[in-house]
Parts: sequence; structure tokens; C-alpha cells
Amino acid sequence: MNMPLLVVSDDHGNIFEIPHLRMAAMALTEMCLPQEDHLIPLPRGSNLFMLPGRTPVGYDPQTGQFATIENFQGAKISAVAAFMAPAYVQFLRPAYTSAPGAPRLSLYCYTAVGWYNGKFYVPAERIDEDTRQDLKNFNEKKISRAAHSMLQRYPNNRLVAHLVDKCVHCYSCPAARNFVMERWECPVPTSPACNAGCVGCISLQPQQSTVVSSQERIAFTPTIAEIVEFTVPHLEQAPRPVISFGQGCEGEPLLEGELIAESIKQIRAHTQRGIINLNTNGSRPRTLKTLFEAGLDSIRISLNSAQEDFYRAYYNPQDFAFSDVGESIALARGFNRWSSLNYLVFPGFTDHKAEMAALHTLITEVKPNMIQTRNLNIDPEWYIQELGLEKLKPDFIGMPDWINYIRTSYPWIKLGYFNPPREEMKREHFGF
Ligand code: SF4
Repeated sequence: MNMPLLVVSDDHGNIFEIPHLRMAAMALTEMCLPQEDHLIPLPRGSNLFMLPGRTPVGYDPQTGQFATIENFQGAKISAVAAFMAPAYVQFLRPAYTSAPGAPRLSLYCYTAVGWYNGKFYVPAERIDEDTRQDLKNFNEKKISRAAHSMLQRYPNNRLVAHLVDKCVHCYSCPAARNFVMERWECPVPTSPACNAGCVGCISLQPQQSTVVSSQERIAFTPTIAEIVEFTVPHLEQAPRPVISFGQGCEGEPLLEGELIAESIKQIRAHTQRGIINLNTNGSRPRTLKTLFEAGLDSIRISLNSAQEDFYRAYYNPQDFAFSDVGESIALARGFNRWSSLNYLVFPGFTDHKAEMAALHTLITEVKPNMIQTRNLNIDPEWYIQELGLEKLKPDFIGMPDWINYIRTSYPWIKLGYFNPPREEMKREHFGF
């Protein structure tokens, strides 16, 4: 295959290729060419975005140089990026130069994209074979009917109403859609508050921010009865069931520790089936201990970096230390529960040698069962600026080699994207 052609957009959002330029990409602050064998057809369920105020950069095979292109056939053009479907990890971001005063990009992930032989291509890999969030599983009519019947089944449950009215209907959240379809992982948001201030928080942005959060944070704290009412039937009846506290439409669930602990106890008084999971920032190991004692099965702890300075620059922790995060992961090991790192991937930084050394130290100390690779949803230049990443030497190995490194260096670690159900934990020879 030849290198795909550069893809751009006009001011009306019409996306097309530039016949004389090949696609280029970036890792950290470096321009590069994607390797052909690292390109895959754009996964179904992905979207393409025009990037306002960003001038596309392609590769000119005639000159062997990268080339900026501002106009095509007399019309102004902008760079284009792909926002990939879940379960895929990106290798490179798109190549462009930003005009002074270019608007900050919304809170999505931006992946390089090109056009070859009638198809869009992206430098990426499917990292999890689980199809729970694949587009093929979502039939709009069936989801709409199922959402309606959920509201009828639980007419007085505010949390079910939130999941249906906001998460299914407004955000098309795949996890909430799977809840109404009575299958797989079911979200259980509980916390309106948080004790961190992540730069790219998708549920709350400060008033002065120039980006809007892509979801609205839940505005109430549900009762134990509301939580138990729909999670018990889900665990009892759904295939490969998981219920997960800690969602994109809430704050930090550890701030609702007592509520969650009591809910877990009451759920487990009804059923032992399925996995009760917590997605968290891992800020309160003592609270987490009470949750494990109550019967929590697994945790997924998010972090953008294993280096404290970069972690602090992104998370802005208010009342906890970086060491609390490590302690929380280690606690899961002590309780013989499943632990995942939700590792926020940024090409050129995640695979940077200094970051890899810090991750090695963390893995060696806390021994997680899994690393879930999550493409970081943020304007790449904003992230670089907030963390001061432009000062880093371009000492990175490339995301494909990073994946190989994790697989070969830590064979006990499952590399993936989703919180596993009990069946999969068993297959991974974990003690469940
Ligand atoms: S921990 Fe989660 S909810 Fe809290 S600021 Fe960060 S992204 Fe937002």
C-alpha cells in the first residue's frame, strides 16, 4: 500500500484528499510519517472532525519534505482528525500548525487520518476484542424502546431517569445504552463532587475555561434504594454482568464512600453474580478499604502519568497525594481483587522513555492486573502546554513498540480497554 493521501476540510466541513500530498502525523511535538503496517481502516463508529484554525501539514514525496498547505483550488482548508470508536488505541495525532488565537479544541481525542483507495486510514490498533461498545450492537429503535420500558419499570428511580434521559438520549453513552438493553457493563453514577481538577475533565470545566465539558455532571446523590433497585436485576440477569460506580457524568465516587459501601452490601445480600467495579482516581485508600471489605470486586484507577509532577499538573489533586493513588492500587492486590490502570494515552509521552521508566517502577510496586489504554480526550497543544511537555527531548519509542514492550515485559498484565466480567478474570487465571 502507498502512504494514504492527506485529508483536509473546507470551511463548510466538506472533507477531501489532497492528491499531491501524503498524510503526515505527530507524536509529542515531532512531525513524522506513519508506518504503513501501523495503519488500519478507520473503525466503524468513528467520527471525523474539522480542526478550526489549524493548517494541515502533509508530506510531499517530490521534495521529501513536510509541507504546510493553507488553500486548495482557491479555497481555505483546515486540518482534519479522526475520533476513534472505543476499543482502539491511537498511535499518532494529526500534523498541523495552529494559527495564533486558534480556538481550543473540544474535549475529544484527535488521531491522524489519511485516504487510500476509497477508505480512510488511521495509525491505530484494536486493543480489546470485547465488542460491547461496537456500533454493530446498537440498534437505535431497539434502544429507544428499551429505554422507554426501563422508565416504566422503575418509575420512581431518579438514577434510572438520569441514565435514560441524559446518558442514553443526550449523550448516546454506550454504557447506558447497554444498561437499557440489559447486558454487560452497567453505569452507576453517584457523586456530584470531585476532589481533583483535571485539565480535561469531561464532566465539569471551570467557568473561565474556553471548552465546555462534553457531559453534565449528575446533580443529585442517589439513595441506596435507588442504586439497589436496578443493579440487582442487572447483575442477576444480564450476560457477562458488571456494574460500575464512577462514570464520565459524575465526580469522584470515593467521595460517596459510605453510600457505595452500604449499596454493595445490600446488592450482595441479593446476588453474588457478576462484578461490582469502581472507576476512580484512587485518592482515598482508607475509603477504598471499606469498599473492598463491603465486597467491591474490582477497581480501575485513572492516571495520565506515572511521574508525579506530570500527574499533579494534569489532575490538580485537592486533598490527596500521588502516593495515595499507588496505595489504592496496591490495596486491591492485598485484598486479592482485580485492579486496572486507566492509563490516558498521549503519543510521544506515554511511550517516552522517562514515562516508561516511571511506569515500570509503579507496576513493580503495585502489580496491577490490567492496563486499560484510553486515548486522552484533550486538545493536544493544550495538554503539551499545561504539562510543559515541549521541554521533553523526543525520546519516545512509538506506541506500537510500547504495546509490545508491555506485553513482553509484564506477561501477567492484561492489556485492553474495558472492565472485564468475571468470566474473563477467570480466563486470565486470576483468583476469582
Ligand atoms: S477525577 Fe474525574 S471527575 Fe474529577 S476532575 Fe478528574 S476527570 Fe473530572
